[in-house]
Order: sequence, then C-alpha cells, then structure tokens
Amino acid sequence: MLFRTRLLLFTAVLAGALLLGVAVRTPSLAGASSASPADGASPARSSALLHADPELAAAVARGGAFGGAFSRIVAGDIFGSSAEAVRDVQQKTRIVEVAPRTWLIRMPIVNVALFETDAGLLLVDTGMPAAGPAVLQAIRSLSDKPLHTVIYTHGHVDHAYGAQALLDAGEQPEIIAHENLPRRFDRYLRLRGSLARYMGQPPESLPRERADMVWPTRTFKDRLELQIGGEMFVLQHHRGETDDQLYVWAPARRALASADFYQGFLPNAGNGKRVQRYPEEWAVALREMAQLGALHLLPAHGASISDDAGLIRRNFLLLSEALQSIVDQTLAGLNRGLRRDQIYRSVTLPEHLAREPTLREQYVSVQDISKMVIRRYTGWWDDIPSRWSPAPLEAQARELARLAGGAERLAARARMLITEDIRLASHLVDWAWYAEPDNPEVQAAVLLVYRARALRPDSNTMELVAYIKQMQRARERQLEAQRD
Ligand SMILES: [Zn+2]
Repeated sequence: MLFRTRLLLFTAVLAGALLLGVAVRTPSLAGASSASPADGASPARSSALLHADPELAAAVARGGAFGGAFSRIVAGDIFGSSAEAVRDVQQKTRIVEVAPRTWLIRMPIVNVALFETDAGLLLVDTGMPAAGPAVLQAIRSLSDKPLHTVIYTHGHVDHAYGAQALLDAGEQPEIIAHENLPRRFDRYLRLRGSLARYMGQPPESLPRERADMVWPTRTFKDRLELQIGGEMFVLQHHRGETDDQLYVWAPARRALASADFYQGFLPNAGNGKRVQRYPEEWAVALREMAQLGALHLLPAHGASISDDAGLIRRNFLLLSEALQSIVDQTLAGLNRGLRRDQIYRSVTLPEHLAREPTLREQYVSVQDISKMVIRRYTGWWDDIPSRWSPAPLEAQARELARLAGGAERLAARARMLITEDIRLASHLVDWAWYAEPDNPEVQAAVLLVYRARALRPDSNTMELVAYIKQMQRARERQLEAQRD
C-alpha cells in the first residue's frame, strides 16, 4: 500500500545509505555464507548465531537502519526478486511529494526520484530487482503519463537493477547512464563470485549474463542536458562513490536528485570491501552542487529536504570540506614519508566538523577513507619489510603461539585485554586463530573478543560485519567439533 505524504523538512536524516552492500546486508550476515569453504560459515548456523544473541542482533540492526524502512528479505538477497521480496518492498514503499510534480519514492534501502513533465515521466534510478514492481505501482498512482526517460545515477544493484519490471509492463523509456556504467556491469559479470562474497549475498542470485541486466540505451561522458516536455534536466557526472556517478539537476524547479553524493552521514568513501572510491572528485562534486541553489533535495538514501536551500548548501559544503581534509592530510603524510599505518591513524576531522551529525562515522570511519586515498596513490606494499614477501600467515601464527607458550596463552591474554585495549585483543586472538583454529579455547576467545568489539558503539557498520563474520567461522568450528 502506498501513502502520499508531503514532508516539508527533515533535518534529521536518519541514515542511510549503503552502497551496495553496505550495511544493508548486515542483518543477513547470517546469510552471508562465503564462496570459499576455507573461509565460510554456513548460512543456517550463522543465522543461529544472531538469533541466539539478541544483543548482537540489535547491534547489527543498528548498523542496518537506514532512513527509510528496512527489509531483511531484500537485504539478505538484494539481487533476488522473489514474490516475497517484491511484496515486502511494496508494503514498505512511501511516496513523498518534495515539490510540485516532483516525488521521492522511498523504499527499503533506497529511494528513486520521479519528475512529471508535459511529455512524460523522468525516473531517476530504479532500485534493486525486487523494487521494480513497487516503483511501477508508485508511478501509476501518481501519473498516467508514459515513462519517457530513466536515468541510472550509477550501476550499483540498489540503483540500476529495477528496470525490468517497467519494461515488462510495456514502458519504453530511453535509459541513460554515464559511459562507465556498461563497463561496470561487465565487471560485475566477470567477478560474480567475488562480488557475492564481499557483499555477503547468495552467489546464485547475481546476474550471470548480459541478458540478466537492463543496459542503458544511451550514455554520455561529462554532462548531458536533456529537454523533456520543454523543461531542461542536467545530468552531471563526477567520480565519487563510483566512477560512473551522476546527479540530476532540474533548474526550473530547483530540484536536485543527488544520487549517492550525499548520504546524510560520513559516506561510503572508504569501504574495505569495495573497489576504489574517489573522495577528491567527490568533494569537487559537492562544492559544485552547493552552488546550484537547489531548494529541494532528493537523495538516493535517507530523507528528502524541501524548501530549504540553506540547509542543502550547508550539508554539501560540510561533507565536501570533510572529504577534502581527509585527502589533504593523507597526501601530506605520504609526502612526509610516513609509514602508511601512521598516516591513516593521524588523520582526524577538524574540530568544527567532528561533531556534525551529517558526518557521523556510522558506516565507515575517517581512517577508512584515508586508507582508500592511500590505496589510490600507492602500491600494494604496506611499508613493512617482512610483508613484501611474507611467510604463510599460519606459519607466522604458529611461531608466535609457540613463543607465547601455546595458542591458549595468546587466547587468554586476548580475553584479558578486551576491556583494556580491544584492538590489541583482536590481534592476539587472530594470531591464536590462525595458529590453531580447532582449539576450543581459541574458538571461545574469538567469539568473546569479536562479540565485545561488535557491540562497541564506535564499531562502524562495515567493520562490524567483518567481526561477526569471524565469529561465525569460530562458531562453525565449534559445531563441527560437536558433530564429530
Ligand atoms: Zn546507493
């Protein structure tokens, strides 16, 4: 069921976004069985881990709470389009009239923007596969005009995978995207297994071949000005979260569909499981967007803003300044010749930005973004001589355990350090695990240390997923031992 609401102003953007994969999938971590047997935990047992631990499940839900409704079904299988998932999205979809003939269709995980013109409808993004029918239903509740044009703001699954339902319904829109988007789709097809693993998604749901995706019918390079129904819409590309990102600006209505350039919190610019992000160009895009004079904001994640040019401009400039500062500090560290771990550890937000709610580190940290900048401008070496051509990890771990007097000693010390220094505790329990993963005391310590770490309020969404994944591996070994 769809509700039409006119919401004037949301200063408190509760959250949002995730980029593909992002936190969104945390609750389904559970379902995040890895493609690699050496690495994986079975979905059923993993899910048991969270079900048996309400406190941990709550921490996970905290990370997966976006501005809109949440769908566990969709998050656990974001490439899927089961009847159950479609129904869940339809039930949770809400329509916000942001300006005249301008709507934000808010679904679990992601929004799409709809502009009505005299010549037909312009749709910005399409959601994930299960969202297509909800988008269609929403559109038809608002207008009987034909779908004139669809724009993909970038090629992520929650933005560019929902078009099939529109085509199946007989719509024949032009589909426009940046020229890098088809290359992205091709890469997704080549890296299907890897993508499934790092997104924590069931591999069989990912597209197998070109026919499984709806490709753009038209692409452009930097900027494209469309005239639809006598009105101009500007598509402007900048690299940011992706290399195919664009925003859509409708100057006559002063409405801006900001894609993932603005997410309402410190954005997905430093995700350790994703390919290169571009914080420098992202900052440029935000400064440019701040100059447009937008009165209405239609973000792809989180709440819209209506009738408040000052707030929109301020939010853009704050984020731009934060990203620029992280980049500048990181490059300065590289040029001073610091070791890279010294560089990212030294990077902080300037005082006047540190407590801004729209810059909070719920999804990734400032240090994570610095790591992404380092990765862009340097090679793979981490500046530590032994790690240029290291001994196998397990051999290192076993030698350390031997020196410590056994893996149990490492595990015991890790447990002692939980309250004192959770980072050190994590290192020790990792060494214990890679030395003796079948040792019951080691398994117990892994569960304790990473549970404590996952529950800490300063563990952001992306790192929390990694900690729970390691807990799942330890739990899996425990259960295997019980079966033997
Ligand atoms: Zn997104």
